[in-house]
Amino acid sequence: MSKALLYDATMCIGCKQCEQACATENKLPYNDGIAAEAKQSDHKYTAVLAKNDKFMRRLCMNCQDPACASACPVAALRKTPAGPVIYDEGRCIGCRYCMLACPFSVPKYEWGKILPKVRKCTMCADRVAAGKQTACAEICPTGATKFGERDDLIQEAQRRIRDNPGQFVKHIYGLNEVGGTSVLLLSSVPFEQFGYSADMLTEPMPLLTSRVLSKVPDVVTLGGVISTAQPSRRTVHIF
Ligand code: SF4
Ligand code: SF4
Ligand code: SF4
Repeated sequence: MSKALLYDATMCIGCKQCEQACATENKLPYNDGIAAEAKQSDHKYTAVLAKNDKFMRRLCMNCQDPACASACPVAALRKTPAGPVIYDEGRCIGCRYCMLACPFSVPKYEWGKILPKVRKCTMCADRVAAGKQTACAEICPTGATKFGERDDLIQEAQRRIRDNPGQFVKHIYGLNEVGGTSVLLLSSVPFEQFGYSADMLTEPMPLLTSRVLSKVPDVVTLGGVISTAQPSRRTVHIF
């Protein structure tokens, strides 16, 4: 059994308390300007998007079989049995393969720092290890973000769809996408409206990682590792 998050957009009121709680938990700044930023970044690990009267969260999906971890040459990213995909910045060499590999474009790089690291939501791994729920689930006033056992949350999501015909798109996003994720989504409108791909493969992405990287041969040259800190260039030279 592993933990997961179920986000039900039909219960979300767009209060952004999950954004605030995430920032506090990860010791990140949070103010009106950051609240207005409608995307994930190196200083904002989750974003609540709004379109008309609908909402949707974006955050790391903490994939069951994560492509980022598979692509990482030094095991700085790792899926834990509890559910979170964790990051060890002491191991990270800044190659940014994880950014290329992630099917959801989640990992972000601290381009503005002298010693940049990769940043993403790690599903409050320390809290989960301590038997607590994630900070975003704990703060959510409506239960739109719920923490629990993945299997239980899947059953609950299926029940909500079955018991409320017409209220939901008949799809649990993350149940099968890229082999399944530890973040599950329910919505009354197509997920594509909020940037989630409708044709994500159900095959785990690590199986495809070599294919993904083989498509960017110009990005990689074999040898040791030097990475350039240019936002517009992802060039990695491995001598
Ligand atoms: S969504 Fe991206 S960063 Fe998150 S676990 Fe999956 S591959 Fe890794
Ligand atoms: S930047 Fe490279 S070393 Fe660091 S986590 Fe990503 S893949 Fe691993
Ligand atoms: S805290 Fe809950 S209700 Fe508020 S924006 Fe986040 S998910 Fe939605």
